[in-house]
Amino acid sequence: MARFSGKVALVTGSSNGIGRAAAILFALDGAKVTTTGRNAQRLEETRQEILKSGIPESHVLAVACDLGSEQGQDELINSTIKSFGRLDILVNNAGAAFTDSQGRTGLDQDVSDYDKVMHINMRSVITLTQKAKKYLIETKGEIVNVSSVAAGPQAHVDMMYYGMSKAALDNFTRCAAIDLIQHGVRVNSVSPGGVTTGFGEAMGLPVGGFDNLWHFMESRKECLPCGKIGQPEDIANIILFLADRKLSFYIIGQSIVADGGSTLVMGVQAHDMKTLMGM
Ligand code: NDP
Repeated sequence: MARFSGKVALVTGSSNGIGRAAAILFALDGAKVTTTGRNAQRLEETRQEILKSGIPESHVLAVACDLGSEQGQDELINSTIKSFGRLDILVNNAGAAFTDSQGRTGLDQDVSDYDKVMHINMRSVITLTQKAKKYLIETKGEIVNVSSVAAGPQAHVDMMYYGMSKAALDNFTRCAAIDLIQHGVRVNSVSPGGVTTGFGEAMGLPVGGFDNLWHFMESRKECLPCGKIGQPEDIANIILFLADRKLSFYIIGQSIVADGGSTLVMGVQAHDMKTLMGM
């Protein structure tokens, strides 16, 4: 029997990148899946990818909504419960970074970008988790957050507010884990390094900006010791591991770093990342 058979997983940010890969793997491994994002067309692409593997339509729910709005979050939770009757796994994966319209970084970046990034990467995780809590307690479920190596301890000055939002998320993971384990709900996290997704373009970098940075890193062992940038499935497999209680029950409130060794060397920090990304 598939390992998530009978379970229901809600994966935020599954209209693209890491979330899409996780939603597909959950569905292939037997779960019923709620997919979500604002972009209805890309959400449909995720649905089609899942259906093409022979998964029945009744196993996939697509909810197009803005996760930054509480109304959107209510719709997401309520439609999941209405369609599937339960919630076993919440993956808080949706996230974003914002570039300054004038190319400013570090302390010069407009503080309105701080508000925007904290809203989607942190506040919406808190409120969605609050709304999902009672259903996850009923099923003794799992939460997996998607953080980033940008949380530190190294300084990511070019994406300072983003790094701060993920550092906050890491502390949320630890506190929520202790808060919820008394109810049988586990909370953990994965911290990816560079992964090929739509993230760079979504944050307003020129097309190919992130690819440029990734190619640069791949060719330098002081930047990326494993020599190959991550793919969404590399992170999705860790999300499934952390959602699989049989395999990971003893891990509580931790974040697994998956970055090809980049944070052990952090050589890329010594280069001009801003120019490499086309900022
Ligand atoms: P993508 O841009 O490919 O995917 C981001 C997803 O988040 C999309 O499905 C997007 O949906 C969704 N999203 C963003 N804002 C909102 C919103 N306001 N409401 C609803 N959905 C939203 O990027 P990744 O797959 O790379 O990002 C996934 C996670 O991985 C993020 O938390 C990111 O911080 C983290 N991460 C990524 C790394 C990388 O190198 N790619 C490295 C480290 C961490 P839509 O556009 O349809 O709204």
